[in-house]
Amino acid sequence: MGKIRVEGLKKSYGTNQVLKGIDIEVKQGEVLCVIGPSGSGKSTFLRCINLLEDITDGRVVVDDKDISDKGVDINKVRENIGMVFQHFNLFPHFNVLKNIMFAPVELGKQSAEQARTTALRLLERVGLSDKADAYPHQLSGGQKQRVAIARALAMNPDIMLFDEPTSALDPEMVGEVLGVMKDLAREGMTMMVVTHEMGFAREVADRVVFMDGGYIVEEGPPEEVFGRPKHERTISFLEKVL
Ligand code: ADP
Ligand code: MG
Repeated sequence: MGKIRVEGLKKSYGTNQVLKGIDIEVKQGEVLCVIGPSGSGKSTFLRCINLLEDITDGRVVVDDKDISDKGVDINKVRENIGMVFQHFNLFPHFNVLKNIMFAPVELGKQSAEQARTTALRLLERVGLSDKADAYPHQLSGGQKQRVAIARALAMNPDIMLFDEPTSALDPEMVGEVLGVMKDLAREGMTMMVVTHEMGFAREVADRVVFMDGGYIVEEGPPEEVFGRPKHERTISFLEKVL
């Protein structure tokens, strides 16, 4: 049974149809990497999964519940789906601990004390125990992104979406963020990851999806998509990035 089922998903901005009918199923614990050229609709696709965008047509079903249904409580859906963006989006005026504690406390999911315990545990998990009192501007990009991951995990989601989480980082910091993501994958988190890190996709993805022009052009296990791509557009994209 699919954890996430996307059926005939379409998204338009005015007359610009960005997603032209996406069908995909992600299983519990599966890591799906989404690759493709800039402008192909990858971010829009992820944003539709946690309802940051109105869906124009089609359905997104999570745990057998149609979350695109009008009656659904969007905030409830989002609590269960963590998202990490290219540009960390940390609260600049809160220290690291407060950044992580904020949502669970604000939404009444945890007491301040519980949230603090959780935050400290998560900081340990992303290797930043010593940064609890630091402010975002005192952190490197890689550290900020690890805080952003800890913050997303603080809501105890069972799906994590990553939109190019390492694209804004200096090369020497990419590894520390990918390392945290690998740990999460190993622990069985269901993940959708838009990435340009083909090495990560090859190593960690259960399946790779290649998007172009608002469609999924090709999908399969990494060894197939990278090793024996079938479509001309996949081949020409991979020639450029590998
Ligand atoms: P990718 O992440 O693959 O680079 P995006 O999903 O960001 O692609 O964008 C796909 C297309 O959708 C682009 O042509 C972009 O201009 C358009 N688009 C994205 N977001 C918006 C928006 N909020 N309003 C209008 N057009 C948008
Ligand atoms: Mg994008």
